[in-house]
Amino acid sequence: MVVVMQEGATEEQIQHVIQRLVEMGFDVHRSTGVRHTVLGAVGAKLDFDTRDIELFDGVREVLRISAPYKLASRAFRPEGTVVELGRGVRVGGEQVVVMAGPCSVESAEQIETIAAQVRQQGAQVLRGGAFKPRTSPYSFQGLGEPGLKYLREAADRHGLLVVSEVMDHTQIPLLDRYVDIFQVGARSMQNYNLLRELGKVRKPVLLKRGMSAMIEELLLSAEYILAGGNYQVILCERGIRTFENYTRNTLDIAAIPVIKKLSHLPIVADPSHATGRRDKVPPMARAAVAAGVDGLLVEVHHDPEHALSDGAQSLFPQQFAQLMKELRIIAPAVGRRVN
Ligand code: PEP
Ligand code: MN
Repeated sequence: MVVVMQEGATEEQIQHVIQRLVEMGFDVHRSTGVRHTVLGAVGAKLDFDTRDIELFDGVREVLRISAPYKLASRAFRPEGTVVELGRGVRVGGEQVVVMAGPCSVESAEQIETIAAQVRQQGAQVLRGGAFKPRTSPYSFQGLGEPGLKYLREAADRHGLLVVSEVMDHTQIPLLDRYVDIFQVGARSMQNYNLLRELGKVRKPVLLKRGMSAMIEELLLSAEYILAGGNYQVILCERGIRTFENYTRNTLDIAAIPVIKKLSHLPIVADPSHATGRRDKVPPMARAAVAAGVDGLLVEVHHDPEHALSDGAQSLFPQQFAQLMKELRIIAPAVGRRVN
């Protein structure tokens, strides 16, 4: 941390800041310039709040130089993390892993039909919500456990893995019986109780970025899971809320290389929730692969017009097939591979 004192700060004010920093456990290095005195404070506690010093008399600004997370930072594992999902599928390696399926599991027949179609096109993970975090309490809330059962059975029949959303910590034991990856939805990114409990499970967690979360906040949420001892965390950029409302959200493509630099954790993109419109999904999926994602989470439905949730952003199976073909051309250009 660097503390820049105001021009004309008195020696008394400077000494006061130094004294407080030392009391807080910092090693202080003073540089007395012609106009400004700058204090370099080394050994910051991770949860240090810069405002505590900013408010002292004579202080102009306080700059944090180390990240507030440790286990999620790139420095912790410079080589990057590869998360093993099962069946030999790995996220964070050369392969771009495609996770596809409906927004919600609606019936055994629906998920069976979609599982067969996405598998045929090269998806390796079947997605589908059984517990849905809907904006309106009157919207379809998901089938619950029967949905998980249909999802697991369809996945097993087609050699797919399963990702499904866990909405709160009490659902963990139930989901654990059916899923290979626990999905934490955008609305739950700051459900710290849930994150802490997922730190205790020994299965991968797909952690979505909250709709107004900064990258640092996403990485701090990941830190909760890592701090509990579960290192199998996959981050997900699913679009953030901006002033633009033509699309449902704004896919923050730049977050992909930024997160790659800041963290060793793999990152996938969800172009479906990011755009909210089926015709915009393939271009954003292609862009995400070009930008270096480790995987994609895509909504696909055989009859989107009758889908119980997110039909408008669900690809028709033939659109998904076309997208997979395109991704197989784009991925090698950036040193990656698509199944
Ligand atoms: C979903 O994946 O269906 C979902 C609800 O996504 P998000 O949490 O990103 O809104
Ligand atoms: Mn959805």
